[in-house]
This record gives sequence, structure tokens and C-alpha cells, in this order.
Amino acid sequence: MTIETMPRLGLGTWELTGEDCRRTVPQALEMGYRHVDTAQMYGNEADVGRAIASASVDRDELWLTTKLGLDAIGDPDEVARSTEQSLRDLRTDHVDMLLIHWPVELDRLEDTLEAMASLRDRGLTRHLGVSNFTAELVTRASRAVDLTTNQVEYHAMLGQDKVKAATVEAGAVLTAYSPLARGALLQHPVVVNVAGARSAEPAQIALRWLLDQDDVAVIPKASGPDHLRSNLAALDMAPLSTNDRAALDDLPKDRRQVDPPFAPDWD
Ligand code: NAP
Repeated sequence: MTIETMPRLGLGTWELTGEDCRRTVPQALEMGYRHVDTAQMYGNEADVGRAIASASVDRDELWLTTKLGLDAIGDPDEVARSTEQSLRDLRTDHVDMLLIHWPVELDRLEDTLEAMASLRDRGLTRHLGVSNFTAELVTRASRAVDLTTNQVEYHAMLGQDKVKAATVEAGAVLTAYSPLARGALLQHPVVVNVAGARSAEPAQIALRWLLDQDDVAVIPKASGPDHLRSNLAALDMAPLSTNDRAALDDLPKDRRQVDPPFAPDWD
């Protein structure tokens, strides 16, 4: 059976390389994770590929996402060549989803998306998506191809109402990256208090705030069994109460963690 729908909780692998990656990814898969997020820019596709090959999970039960490197975006030949290299590194004949990692080379956006659609026609990827696209850009991209996701930074300390509405309008799911605000959210007294009152972990409260929203998936990165297990368990927790949800809604919403020089003009 081939997995058709993106599992709502995946393992992020940014900065998970080498031995750490080769140990953590199989641990996660054995615990029940069925979605792994990598990228050419993370320099870990070969480690992720080795790790998946060493785990006792059938490839067809796993959702694997990768992202085009910046050099390939805008050049249709390079889109094909670099994706074929990703597949060799990942030791698979297809990924489940291929994303444009950042909205660069925008004068060639449609050419890039069409080249990605050709890869989908060849069976090298099952789904297409974008990442770090603003509301205007996700709408534009959705006119060229069917999008499955727009992967953007999203957590209880970053408001994303505008891009989320445009992503859903485009028929796609918003995948929340850095859903723990890279750890910054976990020390916030409001999150710590809500977690304490529910005998839960702060990370689980942060993830529940996202999972309680329709059309949102999450990809927390973790590198030890305790964090991996705790994050996965957030899937089975009851939704936040109205009061707890309101407490997180009231946190400042301007604490963006990821903002490189090639980022777009954010919404
Ligand atoms: P994150 O998932 O928000 O936070 C990761 C940090 O939280 C790590 O320091 C981790 O520590 C810690 N952590 C994880 N689970 C925890 C728990 N239960 N309790 C306490 N601490 C915990 O940050 P992220 O890595 O930036 O984002 C997640 C993924 O999103 C990335 O790995 C990547 O796959 C993707 N991403 C995509 C983009 C993009 O441009 N598309 C950009 C950034 C990230 P340990 O490692 O020690 O467990």
C-alpha cells in the first residue's frame, strides 16, 4: 500500500547530520513516525537515506519530503539533475513530496514548477509543494501546478493568518516548520504553566496548538528518544481547552526564528 496522505506529524532533520542522523531517524521510525522532512540544503540526504534503509519500515509506508537546493531553482535541467541526485542519496526511486525550498529566481517560477511537474509525471515525486512562499506567491504557484503544501515557519509566537488562508485557498496544507520556535517557545512561562496544569510537556502544548488547527501539519526536529517520543505523543492528546488555547493565542506573534538574506518580503 502506498501512502497517499501526508502524516500530520513528521520528523524535521535540519542540523541532524552524520551519526546523529543515522541513529535518530531509525529510532523515530521504530517509534511510529511515518514522515521525514529533509532538503538538499541540509547536507544530510545521504545520511537520511542510509538511516531509512537501516530501519525496519517499508518504504511504501513512509512519507519522505525533500526540497530543491537554491542552485537548482529556476533551471529546469538542474531541477531534474539535482532531484535525481537526491533520489540516489536518499536510496529511493521516488520522494513523496518535492518542494521549492525558497522563493528565489521568481522570474522563472512557472518554469521551475513545470519542471517539477515533469518529474511527478515520471514518478520521481508523488506530490509538489513550496516552502517559505508568501500569500501572493503561493496563490501564483497554485495557478501553475497542484500544490500539496506550503511549508513555512509557524508556531504560537509567529502569526501566519494571511499565508495560512492563502495556502488553504490554494488547496494545500500548511506545514509548520520550527513548530517549537527552535526551542524558544518551551521556556515561555505561559506554555510552561499550561503544560504543568495538564501534566504534559511544553513541547506537546506547542504542538497541540498547531495540531488543533485544520489544514496544519507539524515537523518538529528532535534528537533523542525522550523528545522524539514526547513529540509523537502530541498526536494522541486531547485538544487544548478554550482557556489554554486563548493563553497561547495571546502570546506575542512576531518572533520569527528563520530569516535568511534571500527570504521574501514576509506577509
Ligand atoms: P524546532 O523543531 O522548532 O525545534 C527543534 C529544537 O527543539 C531542538 O533544539 C530540539 O532539541 C528541541 N526539542 C525537540 N523536541 C523537544 C522536546 N520534546 N522537549 C524539549 N526540546 C525539544 O526547530 P527546527 O529544527 O528549526 O524546525 C523543525 C524542522 O522544520 C527542521 O528540522 C526542518 O526539517 C524544517 N525546517 C524547514 C525550513 C524551511 O525553510 N523549509 C526551515 C527551518 C526548518 P533536540 O535536538 O536536543 O531534541
